[in-house]
Amino acid sequence: MGRRLMMWKAKACAALLMLGLLASCGDSAQPAGSSAAANSDSAAADPDKVYRWKLITTWPKNLPALGMAPERFAQLVDRMSNGRLKVKVYGAGELVGAFEVFDAVSQGNAEMGHGAAYYWRGKVPVAAFFSTIPFGMTAQEMNGWLRYGGGMELWREAYEPFDLIPMASGNTGVQMAGWFNKEINSVEDLKGLTMRMPGLAGEVLQRLGGVPVSMPGGEMFTSLQTGAIDATEWVGPYNDLALGLHSIAKYYYYPGWHEPGPTLEAIVNADAWAELPDDLKAIVEVASQAINDDMLAEFTARNNAALRTLIDEHGVELRRLPDDVLAAFKRESANVLQDSIGDDELSRRVYDSYMGFLKEASAYHEISEKAYLNAR
Ligand code: CA
Repeated sequence: MGRRLMMWKAKACAALLMLGLLASCGDSAQPAGSSAAANSDSAAADPDKVYRWKLITTWPKNLPALGMAPERFAQLVDRMSNGRLKVKVYGAGELVGAFEVFDAVSQGNAEMGHGAAYYWRGKVPVAAFFSTIPFGMTAQEMNGWLRYGGGMELWREAYEPFDLIPMASGNTGVQMAGWFNKEINSVEDLKGLTMRMPGLAGEVLQRLGGVPVSMPGGEMFTSLQTGAIDATEWVGPYNDLALGLHSIAKYYYYPGWHEPGPTLEAIVNADAWAELPDDLKAIVEVASQAINDDMLAEFTARNNAALRTLIDEHGVELRRLPDDVLAAFKRESANVLQDSIGDDELSRRVYDSYMGFLKEASAYHEISEKAYLNAR
């Protein structure tokens, strides 16, 4: 070890001792309060070891925003770890299909996945609450609940039986209600409407006479084009323009009552996580939080320009859902949410935590976000 590096190390150690972050300055020193066994087996034993992870996603490869978030994650991790953690990103269908991501990471066939929790309702009944629910929280509120309102702890508990560790990894902000080839002027127009609509919102549509279909983003275009479905929701102008949905549907409806602030997720296989030294764990967590923030910033910056392009260059007709249709969606949403809980104890705790936080956040946002947006 060079003299300068030794001097730097001695100074750094003295500073950490002062802050109480190290117990001693010997070679085997560990951060205070950490598990020595967990660290010494990996980081201390082989600090130069390079970890290679596969990251499988539910998105088409390189899809703007949703698909680019895991790519940015991989780049950040590579830079922050100085190449010690290499993450290779796969689009939907490259290693496994979009809806096989949860099982594949759970079983350790890939170390990591990126998608949305509401896709996994068949495995974790309460999963939708960790992405979005109809008439639920905005992106800002979801971040508050997950980080400071107990949501993250509940999410980890829900995924623990599947050997998965979840992290918030993106948010689109309020979505659009979707693409239709006929106008929706009343609740009657929902009857018999076959629409790609994931999660609990699909059940809401069903109770109002519609036929919800769950399918990955990569299959929507063909399904709508061939008439297999009558309508579809996806995300918002920036992402929908990239998929070309305007070329096969005429009416673009708002607001996205069904997805007011969906959190996207990164999931990590628990065994792969346990093998990582503490500094790489921190890097994964920080990179995940970075893309969680970055995606919302990108949608915020690009949605309106994309909407202008859709309307001005492609002749898309923008429509607002009628008040009575929104009221019907809201009424049925409350019923579907209640019914989705059933007798499951964890689901009840998640529901109570989510609804309690939503009530408090809504009360404050009445006099802050909402009051300001109305006054602006
Ligand atoms: Ca959506």
